[in-house]
Amino acid sequence: MRTSIATVSLSGSLTEKLDAAARAGFDGVEIFENDLLASPLTPEEIRARCADLGLSIDLYQPMRDVEAVPEAEFARNLRRARHKFELMRRLGADTVLVCSSVSPHTVDDDALAAEQLSRLADTAREFGVRVAYEALAWGRHVSTYDHAWRIVETAGHPALGTCLDSFHILSRGSDPRGIEDIPGEKIFFLQLADAPLLAMDVLQWSRHYRCFPGQGGFDVAGLVRHVLAAGYDGPLSLEVFNDVFRQAEAGPTAVDARRSLLLLQETVGRAALPEPVVPTGVAFAELVTPDAEPLTALLRALGFTRTARHRGKPVALWEQGDARILVNTGPAVRRDGAQLAAIGLESPDPAGAARRAEALLAPVLPRRRAAEDAALEAVAAPDGTELFFCAGDGSGPPGWRADFEDTGRPATGGGVRGIDHLALTQPWHHFDEAALFHRGVLGLDARESVDVADPYGLLRSRAVTSADGGVRIVLTVGAAPTDDTVHAQHIALATDDVVTAARRFREAGGGLLPVPANYYDDLAARFEFAEGELETYRDLGILYDRDADGVFRHCYTRTVGRVFFELVQREGGYRGYGAANAPVRLAAQHAVRGLTGG
Ligand code: MG
Ligand code: MG
Repeated sequence: MRTSIATVSLSGSLTEKLDAAARAGFDGVEIFENDLLASPLTPEEIRARCADLGLSIDLYQPMRDVEAVPEAEFARNLRRARHKFELMRRLGADTVLVCSSVSPHTVDDDALAAEQLSRLADTAREFGVRVAYEALAWGRHVSTYDHAWRIVETAGHPALGTCLDSFHILSRGSDPRGIEDIPGEKIFFLQLADAPLLAMDVLQWSRHYRCFPGQGGFDVAGLVRHVLAAGYDGPLSLEVFNDVFRQAEAGPTAVDARRSLLLLQETVGRAALPEPVVPTGVAFAELVTPDAEPLTALLRALGFTRTARHRGKPVALWEQGDARILVNTGPAVRRDGAQLAAIGLESPDPAGAARRAEALLAPVLPRRRAAEDAALEAVAAPDGTELFFCAGDGSGPPGWRADFEDTGRPATGGGVRGIDHLALTQPWHHFDEAALFHRGVLGLDARESVDVADPYGLLRSRAVTSADGGVRIVLTVGAAPTDDTVHAQHIALATDDVVTAARRFREAGGGLLPVPANYYDDLAARFEFAEGELETYRDLGILYDRDADGVFRHCYTRTVGRVFFELVQREGGYRGYGAANAPVRLAAQHAVRGLTGG
């Protein structure tokens, strides 16, 4: 199917928007009137530029407050319309969006609306233009798609059809099954947007919180199925008003947008993408650092052993149980210290995983292949984290492990079993994109998004996991692009006995994050503990959570660069990440930074 995007969905000048849409692979655009008005280009120049970029102009929008008004006012509206149709002729756009009127002068009279829309369509036809009438969710008298369609049907004009907009339909809670009653050729256009489920004024909701399909809470794919069943064969077009996208760079937003449409087409059976290959585990986490010392001291105290070194690069492998951490002191080093730069995902089919990622527009990274290097398939996640698809756990050839030479030191262990989860801080405008990426590209399940209070702002976090919990990634974003030092990435290590692991770490010289006494007073009020249990937690800075399924105990190391570690003990079927404790942890991390000035 053809894909299109409204220029209002992207930031920048009209030229920048068109370039971004074309680069992301869209077939066409909807030109939003304000973008045209603000452009120094003439309509003819815009038309030529779109043609050069291979973009069709699928819609010109919007025309407002046209129908069901007193005759004198309608005459003025027709004059206004002629100007727009003339402009559209110069632009080479053949469909105009007319949204249902919100004017106080409009009357509740369907027959009048049909008659005037029919006269509008007569005029449009003189210019080779067709009119797509859309019900705004906050339209004064027409606010549902079936009502708009009844008016179009009554008018019975060949140049008048309807425009369906998933936001207006789903935000009103309308039943989209009725769409199948509309003849496909009378659906002139289809606009798609998702949105988080919010209880708020629908106009504000629409103008500020729309997002790309799959990023919100609406069943957009279900709606599209009904539209296709009706026989619609026009483009799938994204019309997304969103405060964040308005500020984010147009290029990545356009790629994100197109990825969402590819996934949507796959869901409704209209795109054949390579099958998802769900990763089965974490082969390794790779940290880059300008100075290996603080990090290796931390890893040693945690019980890790440097078991191997890369044959050709300054990369060391530290192991304990099934936890494998690479410390890279090579060139890709950033000034702000240690950073989680790459994740090796165990994959049953690395080449297949890479093919799907590429089909879904993930940047494919140059293969790491030196003289003896095993070929590794790698792509970049939206936050820049490199994702390597590794065969199995890398132990058998030609896995990534073959690039490493053993140091002869066996991993003895300090009670760490493996990696429980990885927490990645997302650039603040790419949070929804990241969740969709991990879900769509990697085939992970996205959990509910959780808001967490930080002393200096609000964090949102969302976990993406494989069904068996073999891969758990927690995506976190701040409400504003501030202070990402505290909102560092972390590696959570699984242990069967967090008390022993924490003690061992401390005895080995490791610094645990101190937790305020008030927290433990509150824990005592909320839960019952065995004699001395709470004192142990207080002493070590262990946090505690419990849900219907089980118990979660966890503690944190001090931060090195932008990375810290967490020791995690899950008991029973506890599936969360201790979100209830996150505000306390964040405050404690701010306090430590304040003390050290770090
Ligand atoms: Mg719309
Ligand atoms: Mg965690």
